[in-house]
Amino acid sequence: MKIGLFGGTFNPIHYGHLRGAEEVREYFYFDKIIFIPAGIPPLKGSNAIEGYHRLKMTALAIKDNPYFEVSDYEIQLQEPSYTVNTINYFKKLYEGHALWFIIGVDSFLELPRWHKPQELLRMIDFIVMSRPDSDKVEYKLENCEFIENKQSEDIFNIKNSEKKVYYIRITPLCISSTMLREKIKNNESIRYLLPEQVIDYIKKNNLYRSI
Ligand code: ATP
Repeated sequence: MKIGLFGGTFNPIHYGHLRGAEEVREYFYFDKIIFIPAGIPPLKGSNAIEGYHRLKMTALAIKDNPYFEVSDYEIQLQEPSYTVNTINYFKKLYEGHALWFIIGVDSFLELPRWHKPQELLRMIDFIVMSRPDSDKVEYKLENCEFIENKQSEDIFNIKNSEKKVYYIRITPLCISSTMLREKIKNNESIRYLLPEQVIDYIKKNNLYRSI
């Protein structure tokens, strides 16, 4: 099987995530895409809604897509969820299968701040999705040597690595979880930016009011 691992805070999940995963699945012929909501996101910890709710919202959002799955692996952990550990876990779980890590270009550019970024780039192939608000970033797509972000040059210079970084231009959907949380706080409509079931869940559980 060809499996895509899609990690994120999903606080909350929205059509940017869902459409991106769908386009990646179709383009790269994935058999399965596993959404992995982060437990205690090391870089975003303070303003994330409880893992349990993010997991539930993700499950609701993907339930009609037979290619999509959600994993509670990171949510169940009591410690910060480092991606290296998660990838090791899934590599063992799906031994003999082809695993890829799916990520948005904004997060990919933050990789130098992650735990053991070099190791990460050596352990799994990456699929990097475009994001509409990151089009000012200059990058060479073929070899993933970033020309703008000097600080990350060494990290992304993986020309000789056996692992690959693929870049895919997806339909630009200018939606972010931050934007949604802001709208909720301001009592603005969030309809058509994320699945209706997720909106219902947010309302029923009165999420994000106090964030
Ligand atoms: P926040 O606004 O809280 O930072 P976010 O909308 O970026 O959240 P995350 O849960 O951090 O959502 O995203 C998980 C992954 O999905 C990241 O790699 C991110 O780059 C990617 N992603 C999020 N929104 C989009 C989008 N609209 N288009 C493409 N990729 C996206």
